[in-house]
Amino acid sequence: MKVLEGKSVFRDICEGPLFFYRGGEALAERHPVEDKAEELERFARARRIAVMQLGELYDRTMEDVGAANAAIFEIHQMMVEDPEYVASVENMVNTQGVNLEYAIQITGENMSRMFHSMEDAYMRERAQDVRDISQRLLKILTGQKTSKAFRQEFPEEPSIIVADDLMPSETVQLSRHLVLGFLMRRGSTDSHTAILARSMGIPALVCVGQELSEEYDGSRAIVDGYAGILYVEPDAATREAMREKKEQSDRHVAMLHTLKGQENVTRDGRCIKVFANAGSLEDVEAALLNDAGGIGLLRSEILYLGRDSAPDEETQADFYRQVLERMQGREVVIRTMDIGADKKVPYLGLEREANPALGLRAIRLGLQNRELLRTQLRALYRAGIYGKLSIMYPMITSPEEIEKIREIEEEARRELDREGIPFAKNLPTGIMIETPAAALLSDRLAEMVDFFSVGTNDLTQYTLALDRQNGALACFDDPEHRAVMKLIEMAAENARRAGIWIGICGELAADPALTEQFLRMGIDELSVAPASVLSLRQRVRELDLGKK
Ligand code: PEP
Ligand code: MG
Repeated sequence: MKVLEGKSVFRDICEGPLFFYRGGEALAERHPVEDKAEELERFARARRIAVMQLGELYDRTMEDVGAANAAIFEIHQMMVEDPEYVASVENMVNTQGVNLEYAIQITGENMSRMFHSMEDAYMRERAQDVRDISQRLLKILTGQKTSKAFRQEFPEEPSIIVADDLMPSETVQLSRHLVLGFLMRRGSTDSHTAILARSMGIPALVCVGQELSEEYDGSRAIVDGYAGILYVEPDAATREAMREKKEQSDRHVAMLHTLKGQENVTRDGRCIKVFANAGSLEDVEAALLNDAGGIGLLRSEILYLGRDSAPDEETQADFYRQVLERMQGREVVIRTMDIGADKKVPYLGLEREANPALGLRAIRLGLQNRELLRTQLRALYRAGIYGKLSIMYPMITSPEEIEKIREIEEEARRELDREGIPFAKNLPTGIMIETPAAALLSDRLAEMVDFFSVGTNDLTQYTLALDRQNGALACFDDPEHRAVMKLIEMAAENARRAGIWIGICGELAADPALTEQFLRMGIDELSVAPASVLSLRQRVRELDLGKK
């Protein structure tokens, strides 16, 4: 038996086989090279291997699902040997003296952008293909396995998924019934994969370390999300102890479920809203199962991830309508797409950024690409007639951004009016308070919107200058959250003065040690992972704000 420790992001226990996920983008560093001829020889070798792998994939896919699905591998084979692609990579190596991996990566990105900007739909689709072949070549060169990638990316039986770290675009593609738990060798507790594990209500550990090596692929394991421990090939005594612990945990959950239908009211009579965060219809079902009063944050960007092009208006309107209908008149706050930072999409042709968390992200993207935001707003307005919808904007830093948003909202409404399409005309709009700038300007911002919702994940990252993706920085986090709490207090005070409501939808909302402080600040709503709704209700009901 091997015992490893990590940081737990969801308290539950699971047992199953380990499945090593080998997807993920290979990234190349730039460095100068002396022997250019050797680089070009390596390039020729990597192309030969890629063509062979693609040939194998073609044959296997053809056998399994037919020619139409296999055709893509033939196209990729041709692209790997495309004279323009090959010349561009060789040119970079020859003229700039850079390493082959870097030349492949940059060529892939440049050509992908070029394809993306083309009128012809067929050519636009090639943008993803050129990225794929570059990734394949990079993985061959860096020794990562890809030959069986199309089979290996998803487990065939329910498994505990192991990865260095997972991008949100990868996580959303994993079918839920196949995931028993997550183990990240790196990762951090506020990363989106951690958030997703919480929203799925499954045990997950981050920062497990490199000792969890691929030699354990397929081994049976138990994840104890209470203690943050992983047991690989557990012995009989450990299995028995874990079985008992799991039974205890299930009894606790059953007890929490007796609180369904009860109010979120403190002993001295203060009532607050406890809502759920969601990203999919499965999350919405989980929110209902856990008796959430509404959806306090629907991360709409999830709909944009793991696909080849942005979801069109129809697709979006249909998804939002389904969410609203399922929630049967309860409040639903949909946040406009928070794309960027770690939530990358290939099809927008965005430039690579040195500091993506400080880059073209969330509302900035919508303000730069107005059509993207307008399409989403049209879909939201159309869906708004099916329930109680509010719209929320992420990453706001100034009143001017809200003025610009108002123009786009107006355009979207005018268009719908002109086209005679029915839509909800007066939806409440709010903003996330997740930058220090928004908290500091919350007096002015409060006069412009109907509500605030504090995103403590980003507010912590930007206030403490602490990359939320980097688990190694956890020791620099402030366990008392002092600076962040001051900013929340400021926003809460300004919300109260302006007569608007304020909620918290970041991960701190679920921390029972902070609930009393939040309520004393005047927070009206807490929105948490569906599986945390009832434990938060229990916490609220045991508080007495009349004391002290
Ligand atoms: C936050 O930043 O706290 C938040 C809720 O948004 P996200 O985690 O999606 O960035
Ligand atoms: Mg955020």
